[in-house]
Amino acid sequence: MSSHPTTDSSLRAQPLADMPGPRWDRKRAIYPTSLQRYLECPRRCRLEYVERVKYTRRWSRPLQVGNALHEVMERIANTLHGHQPPVSATAVRAWLDTLLPAQEYADQHERVADIDRVLEWAERGRRYITHGNPTILRVEKHYPRNWSEPGALGKVQLGAKADLVIRRKDRKGRYVEIVDYKTGHSRSLSRFTPILSAIALKPRIAAALPEQSEPRVVFSYLRFAHGERDRIALTRERKQGDWDELRPLLIRMVNDESWPMHPAPQRCSHCPYFNRACFPTEPDMRISR
Ligand code: SF4
Repeated sequence: MSSHPTTDSSLRAQPLADMPGPRWDRKRAIYPTSLQRYLECPRRCRLEYVERVKYTRRWSRPLQVGNALHEVMERIANTLHGHQPPVSATAVRAWLDTLLPAQEYADQHERVADIDRVLEWAERGRRYITHGNPTILRVEKHYPRNWSEPGALGKVQLGAKADLVIRRKDRKGRYVEIVDYKTGHSRSLSRFTPILSAIALKPRIAAALPEQSEPRVVFSYLRFAHGERDRIALTRERKQGDWDELRPLLIRMVNDESWPMHPAPQRCSHCPYFNRACFPTEPDMRISR
């Protein structure tokens, strides 16, 4: 992040009582992450997604381990999708050497433990994916979709990024499974990821199950740190209930002009805008783009 101050952009990032702020760009899709940011702290959402104030994240061990697992799983799924020979454990280990670089670790034992953990999780993930010989439909793709309805919500784009979309078969018949990988220990789930995924992926799901007038869909969180799976059947009732909760939040988000701060010690300590665009303590740290 550059450190030179820009007075105009600092002013733009400060809420002014008599001057409403900008609204959400309706051409920009609302994804589970941006919605989550909004629900946690509207101010942060404005800085990150509306003002697009750039920031540099410090290296974070849990985050990088999670990113490494996602990258390895993406490669495994793409290999299966392309009917290519499996990636060897040696090749994955060599790749993890670059994804989790030695210079970022003060204790190299921790790095070895992280690499071993990701390898173990990836093998568990591979076994999960291949169980029952499913058809891999999509790997790590963003799906924005136009959504329009009369009234306060109007036209918006709703989106989701699916780690993996597969078609399986059980004794009840075929169904689509949307898979989301989780590596953290926290049990807090992104509440609206399943419904946003169902909305964003609806055309793809319909194409994958053309014989079903109401396609059967399951959303799975693979929780690697716990060795568990949370399975959510996206029935009509479940989707309707989620949408009834989500809709008023979307209306609030796309019409918000005040973007209030929701400070909390834990939240702010992890926020990249703390002491910069938000609560600036030094003039030259206020903001940078
Ligand atoms: S520092 Fe705290 S109040 Fe400010 S944007 Fe970040 S989370 Fe919100």
